[in-house]
Amino acid sequence: MTVTDQTSRPGTPAFDGGFLVSSSPATGEEVGRVPVSDADGVRDAVEKARPAAAWWAALGYAGRRTRLLQWRATITQRLDEITDLMHRENGKPTDDAMLELLITVHHIDWAAKKAAKVLGPRRVASGMLASNIAATLEYAPLGVVGVIGPWNYPVFTPMGSIAYALAAGNAVVFKPSEYTPLVGKWLVDTFAEVVPEHPVLTGVYGGGETGAALTSAGVDKIAFTGSTATAKKIMAAAAATLTPVLIECGGKDPLVVDADADLDAAADAAVWGGLSNGGQTCIGTERVYVHEAVYEPFLAKLTKAAESITPGEAVDAHYGPATMPSQLDVIRRHVDDALARGGKAVVGGSESVSGPFVEPVILTDVPEDAAAVQEETFGPTLTVSKVKDMDEAVERANGTPYGLGAAVFSKRRGVELARRIRSGMTSVNSVLSFAGVASLPFGGVGDSGFGRIHGEDGLREFTRPKAIARQRFGLPMAIYSFTRTDKTNALLVRTMKSLYGRRR
Ligand code: NDP
Repeated sequence: MTVTDQTSRPGTPAFDGGFLVSSSPATGEEVGRVPVSDADGVRDAVEKARPAAAWWAALGYAGRRTRLLQWRATITQRLDEITDLMHRENGKPTDDAMLELLITVHHIDWAAKKAAKVLGPRRVASGMLASNIAATLEYAPLGVVGVIGPWNYPVFTPMGSIAYALAAGNAVVFKPSEYTPLVGKWLVDTFAEVVPEHPVLTGVYGGGETGAALTSAGVDKIAFTGSTATAKKIMAAAAATLTPVLIECGGKDPLVVDADADLDAAADAAVWGGLSNGGQTCIGTERVYVHEAVYEPFLAKLTKAAESITPGEAVDAHYGPATMPSQLDVIRRHVDDALARGGKAVVGGSESVSGPFVEPVILTDVPEDAAAVQEETFGPTLTVSKVKDMDEAVERANGTPYGLGAAVFSKRRGVELARRIRSGMTSVNSVLSFAGVASLPFGGVGDSGFGRIHGEDGLREFTRPKAIARQRFGLPMAIYSFTRTDKTNALLVRTMKSLYGRRR
């Protein structure tokens, strides 16, 4: 194979002689290369993972906890190495990479320590009709889980599936994005240092075809993070083998600002939520709805804060380049369309989207049905809209097909408004904060997907519930038997009426 698609846009992955060549989105310099896995290679990886899964499951919760905590420590000790690689391959500043790693190791720690309590066998009440039965519930691993990861948070996001699936006793075959294969390989290699015996975590590398091959390679579940369009293809492919899927797609997250909100905090949160990581955050803020009573002062604070934010290649820039060069076309289309339809750019404008670094863009007066309000932009842009009250804010916040995260700034009504927003997660008087709370489940509704990573739900996502009903002693009258008598039936009817016949 020869180099095929190394275009003039830096960071575009290329394929060269059976290798995937990864390059810096800021400079175009090669960062490294990994061998591409074809369909046979992917199937082979899944087959080898199967005995590894049995070995890993047999280690038990305590054995897996020890290894996972060793992995957590290895990652932490080699923080400089991985943050430097993330900076070079994904483009993000090293401080942001550090923050991503901090939250990730916190999740590994939580999953490793909680798995036994959440998933291990426990007695559950058997109820009056089965008082002679000892009922036990436990959660067994699925086997081999395929994880298809994105490039925007190349450690944190796939790890929401990987760490939780491993803690639950599964082996994992991981296909990182073609934009960040080296970061993915680093994770696989460091895991192999603490679990050298079997390929419990394997990497397969390549483009979309490698992901497609993994989907149909006989895995017991696919955990996917990426676009809604690709998620639909994966579900269609997985349907052929009834392979269950966990779908984490993007969002169009709103931030709503009530009349009594702390405006400094809300403006600071909107800038961080919208611009950090260059807006390439599935739970990034993309739309802001502000009570008319505080719209002008809020917008002044937001504008001032956004004007001080600049992207760059430096390790300490506010944010880096667009990691996926083709995203520049999407961002430009959204900004241009918004301006053509009467929107105003109060910070930046069309010229801000030159690439690879996109300057902040703040838009006002954008019609609600414009692409910049309805579709995921995945760039450092915000639309800001004035609303007459919080009912209108909630209605507009809920007006897209997405429903991933959200934020509410309100002193009195924060939690009430949070409940009314159609999203998987909502922060109150902060932004993105739920992602760092390991005990909270993470996932969306609608076009943002379904299923959950993180928390107890995230552990159970990679298991099958196993119900065991053990008869402790026989009853004088047979119920589940052809020998059941008329007398027994009459007694059962009397019992049913007495237990369930009353309206209260
Ligand atoms: P995709 O959904 O195309 O890719 C996500 C992952 O799926 C990548 O690992 C990709 O591989 C893989 N993949 C692609 N096609 C298939 C397939 N047919 N079967 C199995 N796996 C496949 O997202 P992009 O990276 O192209 O980004 C497009 C848009 O998606 C972004 O603009 C953004 O809006 C959204 N997105 C959202 C993310 C989130 O965190 N929710 C993360 C990333 C993107 P490869 O990279 O090798 O093509």
